Amino acid sequence: MNASTHSAEVAIVTGGAKGIGFGIAQALARGGRRIALFDLDRTALDEATTELAAADVEVIGLAVDVTNSESVNQAVDAVIQRFGRVDILVNNAGIVRDKRITKMSDEDWDMVIDVNLKSQFLCCRAVLAHMSTARYGRIVNIASRAWLGGVGQSNYSASKGGVVSLTRSLALEWASAGITVNAVAPGIVDTPLFRTFDSALQERLQKSVPAQRIGTPADIAHAVSFFAQREASYITGQTLYVCGGRSLSSPSV
Ligand code: NAD
Repeated sequence: MNASTHSAEVAIVTGGAKGIGFGIAQALARGGRRIALFDLDRTALDEATTELAAADVEVIGLAVDVTNSESVNQAVDAVIQRFGRVDILVNNAGIVRDKRITKMSDEDWDMVIDVNLKSQFLCCRAVLAHMSTARYGRIVNIASRAWLGGVGQSNYSASKGGVVSLTRSLALEWASAGITVNAVAPGIVDTPLFRTFDSALQERLQKSVPAQRIGTPADIAHAVSFFAQREASYITGQTLYVCGGRSLSSPSV
């Protein structure tokens, strides 16, 4: 991959071992960044770090549960020990547990809120301790178009609405410290998570996209890379939809 003006920068990508997160890690690495992947899935972490290292990327893969503050703090410390700095955090780890509310267990609710929202609070808190000293940082939180609302998605939608609010609040809190905080709200993207949906739902979802195609991890990574640039210093607190126009029509499926 090509080195560039970003060659000394260090980026953490949570849930970076596969899917959208791995696409984001590849794109940030192409811009010359050193990469730290935080993920629960050790097998996928090994595969992802091997693939990045084979492309001459300086990378570490850390087995982290992003819902656990101790695990997050230890992992951020490990990144600082290894690389000496952290410039970019991409809060990408996320899960779905779609059910209508009368069928939704306490665990379905708590898991989704913890992985999708609490993790972003924990990771932001841990890196901001370092970014505030450096007076520089780029945080990009992965939300979802589904924060607008979705049948059977009250837990997921609420978690992603929380991500948008967290982003706006942290943007205000850290704007004067040279740290930007933005969100990317993907529409439907072809990842292992998407492939857990049954084929009838996959087809209906694809037809509901005005652009008439499913997004790719590279589509999302492109938007994340934009916010992660040094030059994006006057853009903060924003949520950018990357959804082939689906946020405009908000169709129900
Ligand atoms: P994915 O399931 O393919 O990948 C998610 C990664 O997060 C996995 O590697 C998984 O091991 C990791 N992870 C899950 N729980 C974790 C935890 N507690 N600690 C550490 N790592 C954990 O998912 P994806 O489709 O690539 O989604 C990535 C993000 O994009 C999520 O936040 C998701 O909500 C969002 N998103 C996805 C779509 C889509 O269509 N795929 C649409 C909108 C938003």
